Amino acid sequence: MQVYWCSAFLLPSFIAKECDRILRKFLWGGKGRGKVKWFEVCKPMAEDGLRIKDMKTWNRALLLKQVWEILMNQSFWARWCHVYLIKKSNFWVMPANGLHSWSWRQILLLRPVAKEHLIYKYGRGDKFSLWFDPWMHGESIHALYGHRVIHDTRLGRLALVKDMIREGRWNLPLNSLDLVEIQHRVQDIPITLTPDSISWVSIDNSFSTKLAWQGIRARSAEVHWHNLVWYPARIPKHAFCLWLALRRAHRTRDKLLAIRVIHSASCVFNCGEVESLEHLFFHCPFTHNVWMAVLAMCNVLRPISQWMDEVQWMLDHARGHKFPALVRKLAFAASIYHIWLERNRRCFKNQFMPAQEIIEKIKHDMAWKGCGWAGSHRGVSGIIAYL
Ligand SMILES: [Zn+2]
Repeated sequence: MQVYWCSAFLLPSFIAKECDRILRKFLWGGKGRGKVKWFEVCKPMAEDGLRIKDMKTWNRALLLKQVWEILMNQSFWARWCHVYLIKKSNFWVMPANGLHSWSWRQILLLRPVAKEHLIYKYGRGDKFSLWFDPWMHGESIHALYGHRVIHDTRLGRLALVKDMIREGRWNLPLNSLDLVEIQHRVQDIPITLTPDSISWVSIDNSFSTKLAWQGIRARSAEVHWHNLVWYPARIPKHAFCLWLALRRAHRTRDKLLAIRVIHSASCVFNCGEVESLEHLFFHCPFTHNVWMAVLAMCNVLRPISQWMDEVQWMLDHARGHKFPALVRKLAFAASIYHIWLERNRRCFKNQFMPAQEIIEKIKHDMAWKGCGWAGSHRGVSGIIAYL
């Protein structure tokens, strides 16, 4: 439904915002503020987001398909646009004025974005408009030199690129400085007998919404830890909790104290220290013991370090998709998840679960995940034997 409307119309801003609001509310629940800014959530997983597509960019990517169809002029709708809307004008220069429908004007407004990603590959020159199509190094002659050159050549507005070729050579009437310059610029464009073609992003590439979205979305640097969180065998709720931890987005008590939501930031595990992310994972004696026991189950015997060192150790020792690496990644995410759950249980419900029970829950979740690997020779029995 959403894809249908987004590919048919440019949604008004308030509709796009409302759709985003519904998604945001679903992700974070209730009316409270999200733990991560929405534009960050909308980034790909490798770039520290949750791969949710923000409606505005997604809408523009889907609408670019209509621009592509008009340029290809193969569908019934595109032919109708050429006959009834573009007529004897050219798609690239026709004005987006009030005489046309709102949705057609929105398509015309996407022209600059589309031009950035289109490649006009010149061949025989019998399809491209000499003046208005951006076949000359990504630009049109009209965009670079204005209307005057059309008048100077006396070739008319409907001239095709082939009209500038005589006996296999570029041949313009050189009666103005602009035309001399154009003649010079086109010399490195080879004249061939292949058909003219239009590609998207790279030569011989057809349009795809995925490519369009990739082309127009804002890009960020990749985060080095995304493989630790997002891998095919992950447990989604564990991965989400770990993602929040790695982004330092959990609302630990030191943060709540800073904004005066609570009066004391003391650790809920009664160790007497301030609860911060570093303390919770795994400096606190309670969580330290849990993580130590989980590591021992994974046949890892080593002292526990600071949070960032633990993350780095996991990055170094849980790479790839081999069985021990998968077990370590599952164990790490499960430990973060169940410690955070226990912390909330103590905070909000005043209920306490002993460390041994938490370890059992971690073990149970990992073994349950092993059920999903029934096809593998190391399914649930493999994990249980391993732990
Ligand atoms: Zn503590």
